[in-house]
Amino acid sequence: MKGIALLGSTGSIGTSTLNVLRRHPEAFRAVALVTGSNAEGLAGQVAEWRPDFAAVVNGTESHGFARGREALVAAATHPDVDIVVNAVVGAAGLDATLAALRAGKRVALANKETLVMAGHLVAAAAREGGGELVPVDSEHSAVLQCVVAQGAAPSRIILTASGGPFRSWERDRVAGATIDEALNHPTWSMGAKITVDSATLANKALELIEAHFLFGLGYDCLEAVVHPQSIIHAFVEFPDGSVLSQVGFPSMEVPILYALTHPHRMADSGVRRFDPVAAGPLTFEPVRHDCFPAFDLGVAAGRAGGAAPAVFNAANEVAVAAFLEGRIAFGGIPTAIDAALTRLADAPADSLDALREADAAARRTAGEAM
Ligand code: NAD
Ligand code: MG
Repeated sequence: MKGIALLGSTGSIGTSTLNVLRRHPEAFRAVALVTGSNAEGLAGQVAEWRPDFAAVVNGTESHGFARGREALVAAATHPDVDIVVNAVVGAAGLDATLAALRAGKRVALANKETLVMAGHLVAAAAREGGGELVPVDSEHSAVLQCVVAQGAAPSRIILTASGGPFRSWERDRVAGATIDEALNHPTWSMGAKITVDSATLANKALELIEAHFLFGLGYDCLEAVVHPQSIIHAFVEFPDGSVLSQVGFPSMEVPILYALTHPHRMADSGVRRFDPVAAGPLTFEPVRHDCFPAFDLGVAAGRAGGAAPAVFNAANEVAVAAFLEGRIAFGGIPTAIDAALTRLADAPADSLDALREADAAARRTAGEAM
């Protein structure tokens, strides 16, 4: 029986994780549940799961639960927890990832922003504490499954991207897209922030940086291709030129369960069985760089290294929040990111404090550019 801490329990990945746990009561127990601000949603979950620890990080209502930012770390390091599912959105998840890895836990990581912001420090925390990082992100789970199956390191990785709702829109129309249009994702149902990231393609840049830190490949060996059906989750090339893929209908419950059981598999009747005919024709297109400038900005930040990925991530977070509040146009998101990256190109990145400072400076600079 593995004890699970679920951080971000009321979100999209949190809900999918509880669906997985519900089908495997013999294997997993929810030891800790933490939500951002949805105390009412948490109360319903606590009634069902009876966890040892439950907490609300922000917000005015706590319904008697533990409160505050420390709750994430407390849950992540709880002695009865074996696996921390980090499904928090944004840089707010970083401390919990670091603490869990230092405490020797497995971190099933959906919170990709954590790795983008501080990939080297996350790797160091895992080495220090003997913890283990396993991706929940579907593309990275696909890569990991291919690597485990092959038992060898890949030479090139191509992540697939749905292309988002504006895949075939004219450039000027993309820049003026509305909130509702951006939230209308063609293949995945997800939280608002990652849905907007998918529409700008910032998500795919974040994922290339995530792949860099998870699999150790340089950016010349990391690519993205648009695949509107989201059936093939990644292509993994080996040195002999052979390519493996992991395939399936889009469902986050598959990579979530794999992150809990890796390197093994657990039978699961709750997953829609694959049907190639129903999947229909599979198509591939290049990324349209001129229409989705956030993608190139993110890849350039990854290549630059140092604090640049943290700056990219933080500027993107505030710009997406501003877009979702109706304060800036869709096309203003890459503009704000660009301003922060230009201004903070040489920000130091030698410590966690330096990265936090870069993150804060990027939020300020992006805010001024909006
Ligand atoms: P969501 O918005 O549905 O849920 C986010 C969760 O984080 C909520 O429980 C919220 O209460 C909590 N939260 C928000 N701000 C917080 C804070 N400051 N402190 C603590 N908790 C906070 O988002 P989601 O779609 O579930 O995505 C979660 C993470 O998983 C993101 O990093 C996203 O990129 C990643 N991810 C999601 C999907 C998906 O299919 N939804 C797929 C791949 C990766
Ligand atoms: Mg993904």
